[in-house]
Amino acid sequence: MTGDDRLQASPTAEQTQSFLEEALLTAFCQALRNSGLPTMEVLQLSAMALGSVYRDVAAAHDRGGCPCGWKPAPKADVATLQEALARAHSTRLTPDLARMPVAGRA
Ligand SMILES: [Zn+2]
Repeated sequence: MTGDDRLQASPTAEQTQSFLEEALLTAFCQALRNSGLPTMEVLQLSAMALGSVYRDVAAAHDRGGCPCGWKPAPKADVATLQEALARAHSTRLTPDLARMPVAGRA
């Protein structure tokens, strides 16, 4: 981190989404290439990994490990995540494939 980084404002939700998309796309492409598994299976594993992240973060909050005040509500939270997945698909039917590194068979 440079001094300039500390002076920048916190990233917006849009910038945070963009950062996460880049990170997930990179991990997805690497997993697809390294595993040789079918594309849809790797996508499902990606969704399961996100579910795991949810479970771990929720558990940490249930234990009082974060002072932010969020109270996990698994049923409602999972529904919210499912809606977000559906919304992302319907609002951007063509993901920016130009950013996707060539994975050989993606
Ligand atoms: Zn928190």
